[in-house]
Amino acid sequence: MAITLPPLPYDDTALEPTISATTLQTHHGKHHKAYVDKTNAATEGTDLADASLEEIIAAAEAKGDKGLFNNSAQSWNHAFYWNSMTADKTAPNSEIAAAIDAAYGSLDKLEAELAAQGAAHFASGWVWLVAKDGKLAVEQTHDAATFANSDSKPLLVIDLWEHAYYLDHKNLRPDYLKAVIEKHLNWDFAADNLAREGNWTYPA
Ligand code: FE
Repeated sequence: MAITLPPLPYDDTALEPTISATTLQTHHGKHHKAYVDKTNAATEGTDLADASLEEIIAAAEAKGDKGLFNNSAQSWNHAFYWNSMTADKTAPNSEIAAAIDAAYGSLDKLEAELAAQGAAHFASGWVWLVAKDGKLAVEQTHDAATFANSDSKPLLVIDLWEHAYYLDHKNLRPDYLKAVIEKHLNWDFAADNLAREGNWTYPA
C-alpha cells in the first residue's frame, strides 16, 4: 500500500485572499505530491512498502536516512497543515479554551506567540501548537522535522516555508501568519487532536 495524497479538505479558493488558489494548487498538487511520490519511490519493494507513513518516518529517522525522512515527514506535515486551516475560523471548545488559558492566559496571547515564533524562525520550518501531558506549548521545527511520532501531541501547524506564502505575500511572512491565525485556524481540528488517544495519523 503506497502512501496516498489526501485531497484538500476544502476548495482551492476557500482560503483566499490569505492563500490564493494558485498557491494551494501548487503547494498541494506539486510540493506535497512530490513528497508523497518520493516517499513511495524510496519504499517500493522494501520492507517499508506496506508500512504506515508514521512507521516510515520512524524507520527513516532510526536508520539516519535523511532523504526518506525529509520526504515522509514533509508528506505528514503538509496533510496536518491542510487540516489545521478552514475557510471560516472556528472557536476553541471549552476543553481547549481552558488549556489555552492555563498556558497562555488568553487566546489572544497564544495567537501572538504563534505569530512571533513563526516570524522569528530562520528559513524553512513549521510552527506548531502541541500538548504535552495536557499542557499546551508553541514549538518550532526546522526543515522537515515533525511531531508525528512525538510524545508531544500536535494540535495545529503552520507551514513557514516560502512556498507557503511567497506568491501571495512575497517576503512578508508575518502578514501571512497574521491572516492565517486571524481568519483560518481550525480549532475544531485542534480540539479533536487534544481529545484523541495518541497523535493524529495520516489518512491511509
Ligand atoms: Fe509546504
